[in-house]
Amino acid sequence: PLPVLAVVGRPNVGKSTLVNRIIGRREAVVEDKPGVTRDRVTYDAEWAGRRFKLVDTGGWEQDVLGIDASVAAQAEFAIEAADAVVFVVDAKVGATDTDEAVVRLLRKAGKPVVLCANKVDGLSGEADASYLWALGLGEPHPVSALHGRGTGDMLDAVLEAL
Ligand code: GDP
Ligand code: MG
Repeated sequence: PLPVLAVVGRPNVGKSTLVNRIIGRREAVVEDKPGVTRDRVTYDAEWAGRRFKLVDTGGWEQDVLGIDASVAAQAEFAIEAADAVVFVVDAKVGATDTDEAVVRLLRKAGKPVVLCANKVDGLSGEADASYLWALGLGEPHPVSALHGRGTGDMLDAVLEAL
Protein backbone atom coordinates (compact mmCIF):
# COMPACT_ATOMS: atom_id res chain seq x y z
CA PRO A 1 0.00 0.00 0.00
CA LEU A 2 1.09 3.56 -0.65
CA PRO A 3 2.24 5.70 2.29
CA VAL A 4 -0.36 8.13 3.61
CA LEU A 5 0.28 11.82 4.26
CA ALA A 6 -2.36 13.80 6.17
CA VAL A 7 -2.64 17.59 5.89
CA VAL A 8 -3.93 19.07 9.14
CA GLY A 9 -4.30 22.43 10.85
CA ARG A 10 -6.92 24.87 12.05
CA PRO A 11 -9.49 26.31 9.63
CA ASN A 12 -8.45 28.73 6.87
CA VAL A 13 -4.68 28.22 7.02
CA GLY A 14 -4.60 26.98 3.41
CA LYS A 15 -4.69 23.17 3.74
CA SER A 16 -6.91 22.63 0.68
CA THR A 17 -4.94 25.16 -1.37
CA LEU A 18 -1.77 23.21 -0.52
CA VAL A 19 -3.42 19.90 -1.44
CA ASN A 20 -4.43 21.33 -4.82
CA ARG A 21 -0.90 22.60 -5.35
CA ILE A 22 0.56 19.16 -4.61
CA ILE A 23 -1.88 17.17 -6.78
CA GLY A 24 -1.69 19.79 -9.53
CA ARG A 25 -5.44 20.09 -9.83
CA ARG A 26 -8.25 22.11 -8.28
CA GLU A 27 -10.20 19.38 -6.61
CA ALA A 28 -9.93 20.21 -2.93
CA VAL A 29 -12.49 22.90 -2.16
CA VAL A 30 -10.95 26.24 -1.24
CA GLU A 31 -13.15 28.83 0.41
CA ASP A 32 -12.66 32.18 1.99
CA LYS A 33 -14.85 31.07 4.82
CA PRO A 34 -13.39 28.46 7.17
CA GLY A 35 -14.49 24.90 7.65
CA VAL A 36 -15.47 23.79 4.17
CA THR A 37 -13.83 20.37 4.17
CA ARG A 38 -15.92 18.31 6.56
CA ASP A 39 -14.57 14.84 6.00
CA ARG A 40 -11.23 13.40 5.11
CA VAL A 41 -10.74 13.48 1.35
CA THR A 42 -7.99 11.32 -0.13
CA TYR A 43 -6.09 12.03 -3.34
CA ASP A 44 -3.33 10.28 -5.25
CA ALA A 45 -0.16 12.35 -5.27
CA GLU A 46 3.41 12.06 -6.47
CA TRP A 47 6.62 13.93 -5.79
CA ALA A 48 10.12 13.18 -7.13
CA GLY A 49 8.90 9.89 -8.56
CA ARG A 50 7.35 8.67 -5.31
CA ARG A 51 3.63 8.07 -5.06
CA PHE A 52 1.63 8.54 -1.90
CA LYS A 53 -1.91 9.14 -0.65
CA LEU A 54 -2.64 12.72 0.33
CA VAL A 55 -5.47 13.37 2.79
CA ASP A 56 -7.10 16.80 3.08
CA THR A 57 -8.91 17.36 6.37
CA GLY A 58 -11.34 19.92 7.75
CA GLY A 59 -10.06 22.55 10.12
CA TRP A 60 -9.26 21.20 13.57
CA GLU A 61 -10.66 23.23 16.46
CA GLN A 62 -10.59 22.86 20.21
CA ASP A 63 -13.68 22.43 22.42
CA VAL A 64 -16.21 22.57 19.61
CA LEU A 65 -19.68 21.05 19.35
CA GLY A 66 -21.91 19.60 16.66
CA ILE A 67 -20.63 19.54 13.10
CA ASP A 68 -17.36 21.25 14.10
CA ALA A 69 -16.71 18.47 16.60
CA SER A 70 -17.16 15.81 13.93
CA VAL A 71 -14.85 17.73 11.59
CA ALA A 72 -12.22 17.79 14.35
CA ALA A 73 -12.75 14.08 15.02
CA GLN A 74 -12.27 13.31 11.31
CA ALA A 75 -8.99 15.23 11.37
CA GLU A 76 -7.91 13.18 14.41
CA PHE A 77 -8.77 9.93 12.59
CA ALA A 78 -6.71 11.15 9.63
CA ILE A 79 -3.69 11.68 11.91
CA GLU A 80 -4.12 8.19 13.39
CA ALA A 81 -4.28 6.63 9.92
CA ALA A 82 -1.35 8.60 8.47
CA ASP A 83 2.30 7.62 8.13
CA ALA A 84 3.31 11.29 8.32
CA VAL A 85 1.58 14.64 8.80
CA VAL A 86 1.95 18.05 7.21
CA PHE A 87 0.90 20.54 9.88
CA VAL A 88 -0.11 23.78 8.19
CA VAL A 89 0.14 27.08 10.09
CA ASP A 90 -0.69 30.56 8.78
CA ALA A 91 2.67 32.35 9.07
CA LYS A 92 0.96 35.74 8.66
CA VAL A 93 -1.06 35.11 11.82
CA GLY A 94 1.59 33.20 13.77
CA ALA A 95 1.02 30.40 16.27
CA THR A 96 -2.40 30.57 17.92
CA ASP A 97 -3.74 28.68 20.96
CA THR A 98 -5.45 26.33 18.52
CA ASP A 99 -2.14 25.67 16.75
CA GLU A 100 -0.58 24.86 20.13
CA ALA A 101 -3.42 22.43 20.80
CA VAL A 102 -2.75 20.73 17.45
CA VAL A 103 0.91 20.40 18.45
CA ARG A 104 -0.15 18.55 21.63
CA LEU A 105 -2.37 16.28 19.54
CA LEU A 106 0.48 15.53 17.15
CA ARG A 107 2.88 14.83 20.02
CA LYS A 108 0.41 12.30 21.40
CA ALA A 109 0.01 10.66 18.00
CA GLY A 110 3.79 10.35 17.66
CA LYS A 111 3.76 10.59 13.86
CA PRO A 112 6.53 12.35 11.91
CA VAL A 113 5.49 15.97 11.32
CA VAL A 114 6.58 18.45 8.67
CA LEU A 115 5.75 22.01 9.71
CA CYS A 116 4.40 24.07 6.83
CA ALA A 117 4.51 27.84 7.38
CA ASN A 118 1.96 28.84 4.77
CA LYS A 119 1.09 32.21 3.23
CA VAL A 120 4.74 33.20 2.89
CA ASP A 121 4.07 34.75 -0.51
CA GLY A 122 7.32 36.72 -0.69
CA LEU A 123 10.74 37.16 0.87
CA SER A 124 9.34 39.53 3.50
CA GLY A 125 7.29 36.68 4.95
CA GLU A 126 10.31 34.52 5.76
CA ALA A 127 10.73 36.22 9.14
CA ASP A 128 7.12 35.36 10.05
CA ALA A 129 7.88 31.72 9.29
CA SER A 130 10.96 31.71 11.55
CA TYR A 131 8.81 32.56 14.61
CA LEU A 132 7.22 29.14 14.18
CA TRP A 133 10.37 27.44 15.47
CA ALA A 134 8.71 28.20 18.84
CA LEU A 135 6.16 25.45 18.22
CA GLY A 136 8.95 22.95 18.92
CA LEU A 137 8.37 20.88 15.79
CA GLY A 138 11.68 21.67 14.18
CA GLU A 139 12.24 23.66 11.03
CA PRO A 140 9.25 25.60 9.71
CA HIS A 141 9.11 25.26 5.92
CA PRO A 142 8.06 28.60 4.40
CA VAL A 143 5.53 27.99 1.66
CA SER A 144 3.04 29.86 -0.48
CA ALA A 145 0.44 27.26 -1.35
CA LEU A 146 -1.22 29.95 -3.44
CA HIS A 147 1.79 30.66 -5.67
CA GLY A 148 3.82 27.47 -5.23
CA ARG A 149 6.75 29.11 -3.52
CA GLY A 150 8.69 26.67 -1.30
CA THR A 151 6.42 23.69 -1.84
CA GLY A 152 9.16 21.62 -3.53
CA ASP A 153 11.54 21.98 -0.59
CA MET A 154 8.73 21.13 1.80
CA LEU A 155 7.85 18.01 -0.20
CA ASP A 156 11.49 16.91 -0.13
CA ALA A 157 11.25 17.02 3.67
CA VAL A 158 7.96 15.11 3.51
CA LEU A 159 9.55 12.30 1.50
CA GLU A 160 12.23 11.96 4.16
CA ALA A 161 9.50 11.65 6.79
CA LEU A 162 7.33 9.18 4.87
P1 GDP B 1 -8.24 25.52 4.63
O1 GDP B 1 -9.47 25.89 5.38
O2 GDP B 1 -7.08 25.34 5.58
O3 GDP B 1 -8.41 24.36 3.70
O4 GDP B 1 -7.82 26.80 3.75
P2 GDP B 1 -8.13 27.10 2.20
O5 GDP B 1 -7.18 26.33 1.34
O6 GDP B 1 -9.59 26.93 1.94
O7 GDP B 1 -7.67 28.62 2.11
C1 GDP B 1 -8.24 29.61 2.96
C2 GDP B 1 -7.94 30.97 2.40
O8 GDP B 1 -6.53 31.22 2.46
C3 GDP B 1 -8.33 31.13 0.92
O9 GDP B 1 -8.83 32.43 0.74
C4 GDP B 1 -7.01 30.92 0.19
O10 GDP B 1 -6.98 31.55 -1.06
C5 GDP B 1 -6.03 31.58 1.17
N1 GDP B 1 -4.67 31.03 1.01
C6 GDP B 1 -4.29 29.74 0.97
N2 GDP B 1 -2.95 29.62 0.78
C7 GDP B 1 -2.47 30.88 0.67
C8 GDP B 1 -1.15 31.43 0.46
O11 GDP B 1 -0.14 30.73 0.30
N3 GDP B 1 -1.05 32.79 0.44
C9 GDP B 1 -2.14 33.60 0.60
N4 GDP B 1 -1.93 34.90 0.55
N5 GDP B 1 -3.39 33.12 0.80
C10 GDP B 1 -3.55 31.78 0.83
MG1 MG C 1 -10.01 23.06 3.38
